[in-house]
Amino acid sequence: MMPEYSDPFSLQAVHTFGLQAHARRLVTVQSEGQLRDIVAACQQAGETFFVLGEGSNTVFTTDVNATVIRMGLMGRQWLEPASAHVRLRVAAGENWHELVEWTLLQGRPGLENLALIPGSVGACPVQNIGAYGLEVMDRIESVRILDLATLEFRELSAVECRFSYRDSIFKHELSERAVITAVTFALPLRWEPVASYADIARCLGSSGISVPTARDIFNAVVAVRTSKLPDPRVMGNAGSFFKNPIVDGSVLDQLRASWPEIVSYPQPDGRVKLAAGWLIDKAGLKGFAVGGAAVSDKQALVLVNRGGATASDLRGLVEHVKTTVAERFGVELEPEPVMVPK
Ligand SMILES: Cc1cc2nc3c(=O)[nH]c(=O)nc-3n(C[C@H](O)[C@H](O)[C@H](O)COP(=O)(O)OP(=O)(O)OC[C@H]3O[C@@H](n4cnc5c(N)ncnc54)[C@H](O)[C@@H]3O)c2cc1C
Repeated sequence: MMPEYSDPFSLQAVHTFGLQAHARRLVTVQSEGQLRDIVAACQQAGETFFVLGEGSNTVFTTDVNATVIRMGLMGRQWLEPASAHVRLRVAAGENWHELVEWTLLQGRPGLENLALIPGSVGACPVQNIGAYGLEVMDRIESVRILDLATLEFRELSAVECRFSYRDSIFKHELSERAVITAVTFALPLRWEPVASYADIARCLGSSGISVPTARDIFNAVVAVRTSKLPDPRVMGNAGSFFKNPIVDGSVLDQLRASWPEIVSYPQPDGRVKLAAGWLIDKAGLKGFAVGGAAVSDKQALVLVNRGGATASDLRGLVEHVKTTVAERFGVELEPEPVMVPK
């Protein structure tokens, strides 16, 4: 089968923030062979290319003279179980939320805390998606990649992926050097609920559930996310626009003197994670807009495209939020989505 080509291509509908931008062409690949051929052709012609999943963590801020390679590789396969895990290999083009729901229907829990995160399976290791007490690194055994230097396929173990908070090797050494074609998950044979996160515990409690099943947690996560986060199909957004900043304990002590109610989460290395949404909210920025780009009035951590936002609106808004938070709290915010071009 031939890959699907289309050129020149509007990127507005293939990234959830929905800015106006074009690529030279967009190619959807359905097999590893097609992927390797397209990459080889681009490399030989000296053409720039960019890999795209579902565009929920990517913001195209201007036209890009590049081929966008969209991952259309599909397939889910149960592998031989290991001692404490069932193992599942999933192709990069599969939709993340559909996978989570399907594993529950198969009676294989373990991913339910990550329900309703938009995007593709291939992108989940890139920023080590996480929510409500779980990170995907907790469930990944290995990641299959096309190495763009050698054009060989190889498997990286979870340790080699160097996962950490919203981070992995795919944002550093392997940025623009690897395309993820499949992820192998290790789901626990003896499942235990991860339900201590405040919003989830509250939601379960209000339904009178004290011993939750995986389906209960899934439902709670879906309910909490639906009530808190703007739906990108209704209003363009890229989810959390800023990472939660991690600071030294002494910084928290100073902030606590002025804001005793500041939200913080202790980290294993002794530092603390602050809630970026809390900082933006307390800086009075909820609903603040530059042109068509605004801080969501539902959730301060999310920037939205109210309609017709331009890249310059978004850049202006990002700078205003960063400057205001830095002046008020002395804390630097860092955007989470991938801005193209950087
Ligand atoms: C409403 C909303 C809520 C969200 N909530 C969360 C949340 O709770 N937790 C969280 O962690 N994230 C969240 N996100 C961010 C986003 O859902 C994740 O980052 C997701 O994994 C992105 O998947 P994608 O396929 O859309 O990636 P894309 O935006 O298409 O790509 C993101 C990056 O990964 C690279 N990439 C994509 N596929 C591949 C591949 N196969 N191989 C190599 N590189 C690849 C791209 O080049 C790009 O750099 C949210 C986003 C939205 C819009």
